[in-house]
Amino acid sequence: MSKLLQAQGLSVSYGILPAVRDVAIDVGPGAVVALLGANGAGKSTILKAIAGLVPTQGEIIFDGETLGTLSTRQRVRRGIVYVPEGRQIVATLSVGENLTLGGYHLDRPTLRQRSEMVLGLFPEIANCVHSPAWMLSGGEQQMLAIGRALMSGPRLLLLDEPSLGLAPLLVKRVFERLNTIRQMSALSVVLVEQNFRMTMQLADDVYFVRSGGIVGHRGAAELQGPAAREQAIESYLGAAH
Ligand code: ATP
Repeated sequence: MSKLLQAQGLSVSYGILPAVRDVAIDVGPGAVVALLGANGAGKSTILKAIAGLVPTQGEIIFDGETLGTLSTRQRVRRGIVYVPEGRQIVATLSVGENLTLGGYHLDRPTLRQRSEMVLGLFPEIANCVHSPAWMLSGGEQQMLAIGRALMSGPRLLLLDEPSLGLAPLLVKRVFERLNTIRQMSALSVVLVEQNFRMTMQLADDVYFVRSGGIVGHRGAAELQGPAAREQAIESYLGAAH
């Protein structure tokens, strides 16, 4: 099957410090690809490179088009949407206004239809459309951040640690919704997560990231069972992970 995203030779430096070197990843249509690695390994930087948020060397082909120097905004228009770690919703705007921001370029009927779709998916936030976003719990803010990203009708969602700072029950709920979204649409996802157990419920492919490079790549089928997972984590990320 042809790939939706093909990235190769990706390298990113912050100043003179290299953060990511010669990274290659592929994402198929409708696939969930997880990036797994320790803090500081370079996972977020890989997502930002794909989103066009950091100057990047290398080649990214999305749906047959080389992205080159396309801006983040131009990439959003093509369907590549980044959901940052720490959520970054606009706390002083209402839930509804935050959703509108995610679909700023849509006409009114599409905006309304997408908003209804998102609120149907996340009933927790549907009850507080007019409340300021800061009033939401951490889990609800995460749902709003994902919902805002869905407003633009993405084809590739770049999800940075959606479980960060959430209680286990909320993590479970957020992942259940991600599973629903995935089944509803042909959405592809690149997921950065520390929560390996939850990641394995969604991922089709796992890339192991260490010291700014991809050190291993396994299909989910190869990581079934605790023994196989432990062995992969040990060999790619080190026993201490
Ligand atoms: P985490 O899980 O902690 O977010 P990560 O695997 O996503 O880690 P990155 O955030 O991509 O890792 O960071 C990769 C490297 O780049 C780290 O050494 C980090 O300190 C550095 N780095 C990240 N962002 C910046 C920045 N804006 N300026 C300078 N260095 C940065």
